[in-house]
Amino acid sequence: MLACGYCSPVVVSIIIVGLAVTNTVYYILLITRYPKVAWKVAVSVIILVLVLLLAAIALFLYYKIIFTGPGYVPQEEWRDPPRYEALTDGEPPEENPLSQTREGNRPEERRSHSPYSTADGKAGNAPPTTENQAAEGRETKEATADTAEVADAPASRNPYVVHTLDHRTGQLRRCRVCNIYKPDNAHHCSACMKCVYNFDHHCAYVNNCVGRNNYKLFLTFVLGSGICCIIGCGLSIIGVFAIDTKPIDERAGWIAPPAIMFVLGAVLILFWSQHCCQIQKGNTTLDQIIKSSNNAEKYKNGGYCDDRCCWSKKTKEDKKLEKEARERKSRAMREEVFGPPTKPCIKWYYPYPIRTDDTATPTMELPQYSNAAQP
Ligand SMILES: [Zn+2]
Ligand SMILES: [Zn+2]
Repeated sequence: MLACGYCSPVVVSIIIVGLAVTNTVYYILLITRYPKVAWKVAVSVIILVLVLLLAAIALFLYYKIIFTGPGYVPQEEWRDPPRYEALTDGEPPEENPLSQTREGNRPEERRSHSPYSTADGKAGNAPPTTENQAAEGRETKEATADTAEVADAPASRNPYVVHTLDHRTGQLRRCRVCNIYKPDNAHHCSACMKCVYNFDHHCAYVNNCVGRNNYKLFLTFVLGSGICCIIGCGLSIIGVFAIDTKPIDERAGWIAPPAIMFVLGAVLILFWSQHCCQIQKGNTTLDQIIKSSNNAEKYKNGGYCDDRCCWSKKTKEDKKLEKEARERKSRAMREEVFGPPTKPCIKWYYPYPIRTDDTATPTMELPQYSNAAQP
């Protein structure tokens, strides 16, 4: 049921409101049960207000993520090819598409698989620069022919630059469903039927994609509602075990709401921790899934090599360079999600300001698996 688009937000809202109403009823009951014990009335009122406040915060964060778009790639601009530039700063991508020797991407076949060519093999309208040609190691004659073809092409309406190609074809990444070129790390969501910048995953529980513009909000909701659940659980326990003095068998049923809140809170905080680990590694959920599936495939084919094994074979200099590359990737991912570093860290989770535009910007350093997912 939760996978059904509009049902999920209704069910989650009912759970939040249901827990708040149950607690409200219980504390009103306690106030009427002990009207002459001043401290019990006062504590019950305070807890009642706090529980309602926590529920309001959880609902606010929940609806904020539901109604904030992830950043959809505008189709008009991206129908035209962007300009391709290989990364030259810092470390190159771990799996440079131009260095692959798989079929269809050999040097002698580069012309037909030029990153500037369109899907039907015609030249695109982003003229390759001299530097790019040198980087790609093209033959001079081929480069001249390409430039001549490109000169005849109409001007592109796409002003953006991409740094990654489709690793299978060596051409610019394209979405076959939307029929557009894809910015770096954008992926198609089959639930929304649109391409999303820095796509992380489509969350059925919020009936929305999680991408560049709302990833921060998603984490704020997961962490915020998890904390609200744990605090609510603690407050409810005070009511059941400190204020209520009826025989235990008569109040045992009221233990259910704090127990549910504890389980929900623990699950949400664990989920948030998992996302923090991913961000620390510079990966999205999709990258993690593709990485796991690639590793499983390698293992099946007998070519699996454990990272530790490889790590032990590397030189000190290689290890240092890899460590620096990992740190850069992690920093870039953090800034992509939370914006520029600010202190204290709690500011990273403020639900304002939130990016709402759909323009492409220079993207983060990409993990090697990003290109593998095609619609
Ligand atoms: Zn698409
Ligand atoms: Zn989606």
